Amino acid sequence: MTALAERTGSVNLGQGFPDGGEPPEIVEAAAEAMRAGHNQYAPLAGVPALREAIAEHQRRHYGIELDPAREVQVTFGATEAIACCLLGLVRPADEVAMLDPSYDSYAAMIATAGGVPKPIVLAPPEWRVTEEALAAAIGPATRVLLLNSPHNPTGHVLGADELELVAAACREHDLIAVTDEVYEHLVYEGRHVPLATLPGMAERTLTISSLGKTHSLTGWKVGWVTGPGELLGAARQIKQFVSFSGGTPLQHAAATGLAMDAAARDLAASLRERRDRLSEGLAAAGFGVLPTHGTYFVCADTRPLGEPDAAALSLRLPEAAGVVAIPVSAFAAAPTPDTAALLRFTFCKRPEVLDEGMKRLQTWSGAHT
Ligand code: PMP
Repeated sequence: MTALAERTGSVNLGQGFPDGGEPPEIVEAAAEAMRAGHNQYAPLAGVPALREAIAEHQRRHYGIELDPAREVQVTFGATEAIACCLLGLVRPADEVAMLDPSYDSYAAMIATAGGVPKPIVLAPPEWRVTEEALAAAIGPATRVLLLNSPHNPTGHVLGADELELVAAACREHDLIAVTDEVYEHLVYEGRHVPLATLPGMAERTLTISSLGKTHSLTGWKVGWVTGPGELLGAARQIKQFVSFSGGTPLQHAAATGLAMDAAARDLAASLRERRDRLSEGLAAAGFGVLPTHGTYFVCADTRPLGEPDAAALSLRLPEAAGVVAIPVSAFAAAPTPDTAALLRFTFCKRPEVLDEGMKRLQTWSGAHT
């Protein structure tokens, strides 16, 4: 979609990457780390200063205590963390319960591990995790439950009741939880609660996050996994032979970034405004805009514009309107008519870019209906 946006000169509201806004202190810390000679292999587990900063971050924000040597593993972004956790924990024919729709690497990595993804189906507009959806996804062969909150592509932030349902299912069925919390600081209403903080969960949960979303540094791909040493060891064994380690100066700079809570809060405040700006613009263009409480994304129903097939529309929209968005069906194993009519738009762009995109969509929809 990004290539299509470039070819057609479209406003790219598809892939979620910010157009600027990275804190200069973190960039300078990376340059300084390079000048200081931090240019060779890092240890397999990651640069000690970053592991300590991650442990300190989990303690400060959530009261989670971690041993930086045994319970923290640095990775190439959350994506490598997801791969290492799934390849390390899922055995052939194991079932993995995962939210549907979901970030697209999950199903691919479960399949690569020889496992079988089982959807915990979420329904718009609230996208809530229900007891029925969990029961339908979990059976005797389930080994891992893969969670993501705040959730891509829907922007749903799981409530305390939903987290408790998930935790209860993990305890009852003795599941390992892998939870992708990369948008932990991009929550606009309510607050982020890590699954690992629920009763009985710390000992069975691997928690994934990364620097990319928190500080608008998606291209740096500095991520991490935290959790009990035995489970983490399974992920670390995979990491050892996939990439061993890397990005040493960026790891040093990430340690600086993880201490910058005020910058993270400022970004969330700015993204909240941009979420509202995009949502209002989409509504003015005639879309049915769904509420979103976290992440970079808003979902919009295309049926009010006479378009029940959002995937087909997403292919026409770049030429017709000069805007790129991604159909939610691209993230769903089994799209329903409700999810098939949704486009995901990102609001992590500069306000003037959002305004230009909205102007184009309003012009298009005015001529279209
Ligand atoms: N998990 C989710 C839910 C995401 O949306 C993304 C980025 N789109 C990632 C993981 C990837 O994170 P990273 O860039 O740190 O690999």
